[in-house]
Order: sequence, then structure tokens, then C-alpha cells
Amino acid sequence: MSGQLYIVPTPIGNLEDITLRAINVLKSVDFILAEDTRTSLFLLKHLGIEKQLKSYHQHNEHKILEEIVSMLNSGKNIALISDAGTPGISDPGFLLLREALAQGVSVVSLPGPTAFVPALLNSGLPCNEFSFYGFLPQKKGRQTKLKHLASEEKTFVLYESPFRLIKLLNELSEHLGSGRKASVSRELTKLFEENKRGTLQELAAYFSSKPIKGEIVVVVQGNKNAETEADD
Ligand code: SAM
Repeated sequence: MSGQLYIVPTPIGNLEDITLRAINVLKSVDFILAEDTRTSLFLLKHLGIEKQLKSYHQHNEHKILEEIVSMLNSGKNIALISDAGTPGISDPGFLLLREALAQGVSVVSLPGPTAFVPALLNSGLPCNEFSFYGFLPQKKGRQTKLKHLASEEKTFVLYESPFRLIKLLNELSEHLGSGRKASVSRELTKLFEENKRGTLQELAAYFSSKPIKGEIVVVVQGNKNAETEADD
């Protein structure tokens, strides 16, 4: 009988966000696939878990795919974790998940921490329907994506590095209009968490006035809501 592949979300800052189920799965599996074994070792030590870790990251995920799936097929239970949040969400995981499912391996995805959900809720923008785009391409395809975002009707969520936040806010202003509502969530679940709401122009001005540190999620009002507000 084949083993199980568990997709296990880990905290995005606050270590208390690990779930009891995640801890039990990490304790029970044969080994853990981790994006950065040093980062994950810190978490496992904190949880008092001693378990073999193997590297699984964007530079070896193609190479070790078959090996991992054959271990699953031979009955090993394996957990996949990333440095933070949910594997597969702007992190490695999709390739293994797809291949495991294609080969009939049972996959169990645990619910848990991910940055885009609290950012979406903290934005105060409509969240009954939304789109997630992750990181925009840095060069090729960026302009096409920005044009596409201009016609996005739903609230949408982007991941961005602090070093490129101002550039992104300015580009969004250019393509969507500087008055479009948005929100920037920084350092979610951490000591210096900040959720700043305003227009794209206001946010660009605010973040230009100080050094930007930490991890960032940008949430932007969709075209449809912006139009409805303009009509009102
Ligand atoms: N797998 C993760 C998830 O489920 O959200 C995302 C990993 S991706 C490599 C890292 C990006 O996620 C960061 O650049 C930032 O955009 C976002 N992120 C992760 N942790 C965050 C936090 N504590 N606060 C704000 N954004 C965060």
C-alpha cells in the first residue's frame, strides 16, 4: 500500500500559529521534505520534534521528484513543508503534489498559515470573491500582467519584496488609476505587524517616507467595486 503525502503549512511569523494536527503529522511521518533544512530545524526544535529532514526546493524539485514518488509508492509517509506558510503557495510543492496525485498516491493537505488570507481580510476590501496572483514576473510578462490587472474585477492579492514595493505601487497607479483603494500588510503575525489602507497614491507616499522592512502583501480593490463606488 502506498504511503501518504502530507502538505503541512507552517507559521509565517508567529510560532503559535502551528496547528495541533500539523505537529502530530510532523511527528508521525517517516521524514520531512523541507525547503531550507536550517529554517525548518529551528521550527522542529521549537516543537520538540526530532525527524529526518530532506531538502526539497526549486533547484532540486525536478531532479528528486521520481525518487520521492517511488518512496511514497513503497509505503513511506512524507510531510512537505516550506520555509513559511503553505507549500505550493508561491513556494515549491505543486510539482510533487501533481505527480503524487497522477500516480495514485493519497495526498492530505492540512489547513493552516498562509500570508494572503489575513492580508485579504485586513484590507477591508470585498473578500467574497478574490484573485491571487502571487509575485508578478519581474521582467518578461510584467507589463502584460499589469494590463490584465487593470481589468481584474475582483479584489486581488499580490506578494512583493519590500525593495520593490514602491515600484509596484507606482506601476499599479499608472495602470489602475492612483485613486484605486488598496492595502499593504507588512510583517503579518509578527511583533511589528502593520496593515496600512489607502489609495495607491497614498500608500506610495506613505511607504516612500520611511525605510521599508519585512515581508509584504498588497491587496487591491477590483475594477468592479471601484466602478460601483464611482457610480455611487
Ligand atoms: N508559502 C507562503 C504563503 O503561504 O503565504 C508564501 C511564500 S513566498 C516565498 C514569501 C512571500 O509571502 C513574502 O515575500 C510575502 O509577500 C509573503 N509573506 C510571507 N510571510 C509574510 C508575513 N509574515 N507578512 C507579510 N507577507 C508575508
